[in-house]
Amino acid sequence: MMRTDRVRPFRRLAEAVQAVLLIGLPFLKINGESALRFDVPSLQLHFFGATLWMQESFILLVGLLFLVFLILLVTLLFGRIWCGWVCPQTVLADYTGFMDRLGRPGVASRAAFYLLTFGLSLFVAATLVWYFVPPSEFFGQVMSLHPAEAVSWAWGLLTIVIFADLAFVRRRFCATVCPYSRIQSTLFDSSTMAIQFDPGRKEECMNCSACVRVCPTGIDIRKGLDPACISCAACLDVCRDMKEKAGRPGLIGYFFGRPGEEHPLIRRSVLLVASVTLLFLLFFVYLSVNRSPVDMTVTLTAGLPPRITPDGRVVNAFTVTLENRSRRELEVRLLLTGGAIPFRLNPERMVLGPGEHKKRTIFADAKTAAGTAAIPVDLQASFGTAAGGRISKKTTFVVPEMK
Ligand code: SF4
Ligand code: SF4
Repeated sequence: MMRTDRVRPFRRLAEAVQAVLLIGLPFLKINGESALRFDVPSLQLHFFGATLWMQESFILLVGLLFLVFLILLVTLLFGRIWCGWVCPQTVLADYTGFMDRLGRPGVASRAAFYLLTFGLSLFVAATLVWYFVPPSEFFGQVMSLHPAEAVSWAWGLLTIVIFADLAFVRRRFCATVCPYSRIQSTLFDSSTMAIQFDPGRKEECMNCSACVRVCPTGIDIRKGLDPACISCAACLDVCRDMKEKAGRPGLIGYFFGRPGEEHPLIRRSVLLVASVTLLFLLFFVYLSVNRSPVDMTVTLTAGLPPRITPDGRVVNAFTVTLENRSRRELEVRLLLTGGAIPFRLNPERMVLGPGEHKKRTIFADAKTAAGTAAIPVDLQASFGTAAGGRISKKTTFVVPEMK
């Protein structure tokens, strides 16, 4: 039966959900693509059914800024909750905790330790590669024993890095290398939540040192906050176990600010960071909802200057590039408007396959009044999305001098 007054079962559950999500996302298909994958050759990000192009990296940047401020906000409120509950380094170290016991002196157990660690590193590295190469393609290449050079290098290098981390660095990463661990203490204020020993009850401590022995980073939490603490709550659980025998509550817990003092959860710094986070979220949603599935550029064609036909019509040649950012075929209808002049276009329609980029010369002609040098015009592109989308670009229709 799961003990709801212990943190460990909830952490294990959170880690299991995270593992299933991280391994499963590349296999989950939405609109025929992995739910989350960056396609390097086409520089496209597939994100839960939507496809973001490199030219739309501004949307991605806004999304990343939202995530950065969200992490700042969570850190300001809940301290190193990320480290203890979500960080992949902690999750991997927890899942491979049994290997610490295998790593004891003795050739057989050392060999078993390195073999298991290498196998796990291969699997974790492959999972990371699936966020760039579809799993079906990855398995096809591996089974044929001829993986693409980029896949072999990425998989090999990632395996070496993860193996070195799991075999030799492990928990030391958090206290030495991790950049988040370095900066997080600057984000704390006097009300930030942290796992702490309650100094107001220090005379109740049995000095059993169970909290020190169980700590994966070797901290004595009774001495106060330590930057190496990964907020794993192992000391909290073990202290509750020890004190339970004496019929008393544990001495270690989650506290906002110093134990025994009143600290406001909502404060000026929290409101400020929360407002910026919300702004970035709203901006990201606005940009995502209003993104057009078609992009267009238009310029006058350099090698085909404007001319006048024998029947008195003015002809301009425009170079039009159209990009279909959707995952289905689109028919794009073109229309040139400006003043009250009726323009004719040739061609008037183009068909773009999914993700296709087309560059065409479009001829526009009209009967215009002599003496008009340049007419501001709009080139409109309507496309057959369910919502009946349309974009337009401004350009100029040039009337050459009559000879
Ligand atoms: S002090 Fe407690 S919460 Fe912090 S790392 Fe050690 S056991 Fe985990
Ligand atoms: S586990 Fe609790 S009682 Fe034991 S030494 Fe640590 S704080 Fe004191």
